[in-house]
Amino acid sequence: MNASTEALPVAVIGAGPVGLAAAAHLTGRGITPLVLEAGTSAATAVREWGHVRLFSTWSELVDPAAEKLLAPGWTAPDGGSYPSGADWAALYLQPLADVLGEKVRYGATVTGVSRLGRDRIVDADREQQPFTVRIVNADGAEERILASAVIDASGTWSTPSPIGGDGLPALGEKAAADRISYRIPDLKDPAARGRYAGKRTAVIGSGASAFTALAYLADLAKADDGSGTHATWILRRGISGSTFGGGSADQLPARGALGLAAKAAVDNGYADAVTGFRTDAIQRDHDGRLVLVAEDGRRLDAVDEVIVLTGLRPDLSFLDELRLALDERLQAPVDLAPLIDPNQHSCGTVYPHGVNELSHPEQGVYLVGMKSYGRAPTFLAMTGYEQVRSIAAHLAGDQEAAERVELTLPETGVCGGAGLFDQPQAAEETSGGGCCAAPATLTIGAPASSSGGC
Ligand SMILES: Cc1cc2nc3c(=O)[nH]c(=O)nc-3n(C[C@H](O)[C@H](O)[C@H](O)COP(=O)(O)OP(=O)(O)OC[C@H]3O[C@@H](n4cnc5c(N)ncnc54)[C@H](O)[C@@H]3O)c2cc1C
Repeated sequence: MNASTEALPVAVIGAGPVGLAAAAHLTGRGITPLVLEAGTSAATAVREWGHVRLFSTWSELVDPAAEKLLAPGWTAPDGGSYPSGADWAALYLQPLADVLGEKVRYGATVTGVSRLGRDRIVDADREQQPFTVRIVNADGAEERILASAVIDASGTWSTPSPIGGDGLPALGEKAAADRISYRIPDLKDPAARGRYAGKRTAVIGSGASAFTALAYLADLAKADDGSGTHATWILRRGISGSTFGGGSADQLPARGALGLAAKAAVDNGYADAVTGFRTDAIQRDHDGRLVLVAEDGRRLDAVDEVIVLTGLRPDLSFLDELRLALDERLQAPVDLAPLIDPNQHSCGTVYPHGVNELSHPEQGVYLVGMKSYGRAPTFLAMTGYEQVRSIAAHLAGDQEAAERVELTLPETGVCGGAGLFDQPQAAEETSGGGCCAAPATLTIGAPASSSGGC
């Protein structure tokens, strides 16, 4: 970077928890951030699932640099209590964005990032050129912003995975869109309640979001006893010891409780579980209801609604002119991917990481937060806070602080074995505590082997 480039702001894409934490860390380091947020307020994505209660306590959801910036006019909520997404947005994220003031721009959708005057294939003076960030403002006007570095904290919320077992939309999925949702329903909302009350609903997915949806539908069935509300839980895998998460072994008790609530929904007859079902097609019966068809030809009884919670994916389209090094499976930075790969482990632990693991051949660009995990589940906000602390230190030239990341992450209580496909050893390893029995606080920069892997 030359002197004029250094004077430019660091562009932060997204005013979610991690983008705002990045801005707080940069500000604390004397670097000017410019947060570009597509929505009309902070935490647009979090607000969309505002009705869901987090499984993390407040103490795990507030970034230390952000807290410093908010002081003294801000009172931290009770650290031991669990906020909803709406609480997280209203009581912490929006106040943080307000303190950052003009450093946050709303209605600014990033549609492209490149090097000024250099497309992806041009080498000449590449590193000396500032980044050019293309945005579309709320009124539709295009604008170009120059930046010294780019931190992409745009999350994965807007790109949910489709139903198909092959990762593509199932045949007929798009045509059935009127009866399909990709979100956890807010059953306190009368319209959503009306949509699912007295109906048969298929819930597809096996993570925390699917557990939550099943628990909500069970509550609805209980409340409207006799109305016929019923869920069919569709799993690609069989049911094993790890299906319902770590339960009481989860180091985040509320996360463990989600799996137990899903199990109770099945045990109490509010949901049937259909296992080993890899959806291939969706058809309509003569009443317009949906019939799910598996790759092996199995057809399920018709349902009124389908809720798809099969994970989220990163939108990499606007980064196409940058030279990124992404893992071919997870679409996460190559050095981070082996630490979070659900093919290998399901602990939810991750070797502490920061700027080294998040760097790309294109220097000065970083994918952070939920997006840094690509398609891998188990991202925690506190992981993202450490990521941006390290990156801000690096950008400020404090390499020692950038590489001194200390972070202990709570395990899911389900360790060992593949998190994606049925493999016989998974259950045994789970019962034995697997390879991740003891979480460790480690220092970034230490060789991967010292973590014990996972
Ligand atoms: C239902 C649910 C429950 C969760 N519970 C927990 C929990 O209990 N504990 C925990 O630690 N984690 C939890 N997570 C995981 C994670 O911490 C959150 O998803 C968190 O919101 C991720 O923060 P983020 O800043 O990376 O992304 P996001 O919160 O998704 O923020 C991204 C922001 O970028 C904006 N944006 C997107 N694209 C663009 C663009 N092109 N241009 C400009 N702006 C853009 C979006 O509008 C959004 O405001 C949960 C996630 C979900 C979905």
